[in-house]
Amino acid sequence: MSIFDFAEGREGYYGQYGGTFLPEILAATIEELQDCFASCKKDPAFWHEFIDLMQSYSGRPTPVTHLENLSRHLGGAQIYVKREDLNHTGSHKINNVMGQGLLCRRLGKTRVIAETGAGQHGYATATMAARFGFRCKIYMGAVDVARQRPNVFWMERMGAEVMAVQDGQKTLKDAINEALRDWVTNMADTHYVLGTACGPHPFPEMVSFFQSIIGIEAREQIQKVAGRLPDRVFACVGGGSNAIGIFQGFLDDTDVELVASEAGGLGPESGMHAARLAYPDASVGVAQGYKTYFLQDDDGNMKETHSIAAGLDYIGVNPILVDLWEKKRVRFEAATDEQVREALQLVMRTEGLIPALESTHAFARAIEEAPGMGTDEIILINQSGRGDKDIFTIADALDDQHWKTFIKEKAIEYGA
Ligand SMILES: *Cc1c(COP(=O)(O)O)cnc(C)c1O
Repeated sequence: MSIFDFAEGREGYYGQYGGTFLPEILAATIEELQDCFASCKKDPAFWHEFIDLMQSYSGRPTPVTHLENLSRHLGGAQIYVKREDLNHTGSHKINNVMGQGLLCRRLGKTRVIAETGAGQHGYATATMAARFGFRCKIYMGAVDVARQRPNVFWMERMGAEVMAVQDGQKTLKDAINEALRDWVTNMADTHYVLGTACGPHPFPEMVSFFQSIIGIEAREQIQKVAGRLPDRVFACVGGGSNAIGIFQGFLDDTDVELVASEAGGLGPESGMHAARLAYPDASVGVAQGYKTYFLQDDDGNMKETHSIAAGLDYIGVNPILVDLWEKKRVRFEAATDEQVREALQLVMRTEGLIPALESTHAFARAIEEAPGMGTDEIILINQSGRGDKDIFTIADALDDQHWKTFIKEKAIEYGA
């Protein structure tokens, strides 16, 4: 099975999901991008250039680590972790961003723009732009700019302009709308570096293509360290790029169960979550250039979402994953904020790892399922990023009084 087998006669569609829904004015630009990506995809030299760059610049291949203490503690399956946290800039986002940097150079464009919520994608894009010598503008909701000062600081030091978006709720979806407006105005010299496997074709396919490096490495590594393929693979799902990245290594291995973990927030009854498929609150719609399941009301207005992890707090989801879910190849579950807090503490104490709050959603599901599995069974978790960025959120969530006081004092000092 290849995820790139489009629905019959409909390029860019996965089942009934995906597509390209953009203003007519962008038609030539998106076609240029589709053509450039299609020729890069066919060219082995392009993939080699990408691999070389990721090895020399970001430390790939990232290792697979056996978590013996956690496995023993839970008394079930043997747990292994794919370490995307060890990438430069601290997450898998750099895989996609560097790939699009190479592509941008082939397109002959000299300026990049990107949207960002928690700042991780903006941070990675600013890094790439500095490295490639592109001008760079990052769109970020004003609320997020205030919440994520350290990321804004680094982006600006690396030469990017950070635009605080004042529209709507002043968060991620408003930043995406503003980035699309910039693209319409400046498409001649500008490439839009979308941060996840969502949006109009070719972005879901293109981002998945670059993130497939995770699954390709992991499939080989787990056989080396564990002696065989895993029984279950867990990944968290925001837009769905790290999940489709690792899942692609195992799609044809029908005995390997693929489990996606969404943001359950305050739980299924609360309305305060970002679970598009694990909970029944979302429905099919068209927005932000593509067709998928969105958390929206009956009139198609987007609902507010909530998660302890800013990177999972999004209204839509990767159309390729929706198709795989409908075909029963990927099982969708959710982890609540509370389960994530507990899982994070357990992983830190038993293994000395600090997964990002996003990645901890994958750990939380694995921790729930591992005790019910045999000790000869194998779990592989994708640790999409490291938790250093979450220090204040985690201190707050774990109710660490010392740090909470410190943060409050700092906030007053900075006038927040
Ligand atoms: C952004 C982010 C995510 C969510 O994005 P996906 O496209 O769903 O992978 C997950 N983990 C980390 C560490 C992130 O920074």
